Amino acid sequence: MQRHVVLITLWLALAGRGSTAEFDLVLRGGRIVDGHGNPARFADVAVKDGRIAAIGRPGTNAAEVIDVPGLIIAPGFIDVHTHAENILELPSARNFARMGVTTLILGNCGSGPVDVGGFFRRAGATNIAVNVALLIGQGSIRSHVMGGSFMRPPTDEELGRMKQVVAKGMEDGALGMSTGLIYLPGTFTKTGELVELARVVAEHGGLYASHMRNESDHIMESLEELFTIAREARLPAHISHLKLGGQKNWGQTGKVIEAIERARASGLDITQDQYVYTASSTSIGSLIPEEAREGGKFKERMQDADERAKVIAQLKEQAAKRGTDFSYAVIASYDSQPRLNGLNLSQAAKELYGDESLDRQIDAILEIQLNGGASGVFHSMNEDDVRAYLRHPNTMIAADSSVRAWQSGVPHPRGYGNNARVLGRYVREEKVLKLEDAVRRMTSLPAATFQIKDRGSLREGAWADIVVFDPGTVSDKATFEQPHHYATGFRLVLVNGVKVVVDDAPANGARPGRVVRRGQ
Ligand SMILES: [Zn+2]
Repeated sequence: MQRHVVLITLWLALAGRGSTAEFDLVLRGGRIVDGHGNPARFADVAVKDGRIAAIGRPGTNAAEVIDVPGLIIAPGFIDVHTHAENILELPSARNFARMGVTTLILGNCGSGPVDVGGFFRRAGATNIAVNVALLIGQGSIRSHVMGGSFMRPPTDEELGRMKQVVAKGMEDGALGMSTGLIYLPGTFTKTGELVELARVVAEHGGLYASHMRNESDHIMESLEELFTIAREARLPAHISHLKLGGQKNWGQTGKVIEAIERARASGLDITQDQYVYTASSTSIGSLIPEEAREGGKFKERMQDADERAKVIAQLKEQAAKRGTDFSYAVIASYDSQPRLNGLNLSQAAKELYGDESLDRQIDAILEIQLNGGASGVFHSMNEDDVRAYLRHPNTMIAADSSVRAWQSGVPHPRGYGNNARVLGRYVREEKVLKLEDAVRRMTSLPAATFQIKDRGSLREGAWADIVVFDPGTVSDKATFEQPHHYATGFRLVLVNGVKVVVDDAPANGARPGRVVRRGQ
């Protein structure tokens, strides 16, 4: 048996060497959209040794020629905002690959591996299907150095150590630093502390990417904080998953965009990304005030009647401010009681206690948190606002998703559909964006902003991360009710010249992804 394998391997190696073909692959008869916003044009694309070898009329002297008439050939998509650290466990990353995403940026919202070099070594040894790059997560570093998530400033010694970890991460090839300022311990981090760390990122030429402190009633103050960090630390700043939550804020995107434009006019380099849905997704526990969760003592505090009463009062106030109960929040994945997945908090209260009142909804929130927590989907945005942000020329397209485990839970559909939804719904159907511009926001714009070299562009010499799709049919199939559906319309997805998707199906389990370090 083993001898058999050796012989086949030898034959393959000799066959490869003996081949006289000029190229490994030629894509013929399609239209290219180069990633830079230029108008689509007819051209063939030739691939050799993982790179784009020729564009135009390279001929057909190739080991393989694939005819793609009527289809678009574009650079593989770069998703700048993912939580796909779990790609080490789910290396095929199918939900991403099957909507044309060929490079993932991990480590967002302040959370990610503290040892950047170590993570890259593991990723390099794992055989992943798509490329990965990394941001250093400020929250993870703070917890690591301070020994937990505490509502206090760091000592000088702790701050010094955090700076060292940031510097090491940047030296190891991180693209920059992310924050998640609604999460523990990001929420306890004051602006000055962030500026100190951002200065280290700036010294290494990286960027600052932030899940801002507030994305609804206080979004303007949060923008100011981001601008302050960009100005004082002198580095580019990127707004993660730009949105406007809370019904009473709907229609105010103009103010947000104006503030961003003013900051840019004053010399700051501000960009943003977005997922194109009217619901967000994070932990159900994020509804609970952070003081109650601080220091890992939530359970302890909930045993104290006064503390519990205080948290309940705070949650009631939150609901009153919103003018709704918690039925806008849907349980996505709750390990302790999976039967609640897909139910909103009103339905979950009914299921748990036979009563859907606000009091019982709050009991459900606390019970979920006490039993290990759950992820949730929060229906809190407005479609016109989504379109308004999408129209801004510096908005990139990012799914804010982990690698999805097939059929597990009822997660936000963005992880399966985001890029395809932009191309189908917002380009073809609603004509909010031109195709070339939509592709630019998925390719060259993220590559330039996050310093990813030789990707996000169809040009000779670039890595052959290529997606071939049908502009007439490309669509997302994942819905809030049934999220586990792959996007469709993808004829071919190549990562470093190797097929990972063929005709909306995985291509023989190939996993050609690479680790992408800043500027490399
Ligand atoms: Zn986030």
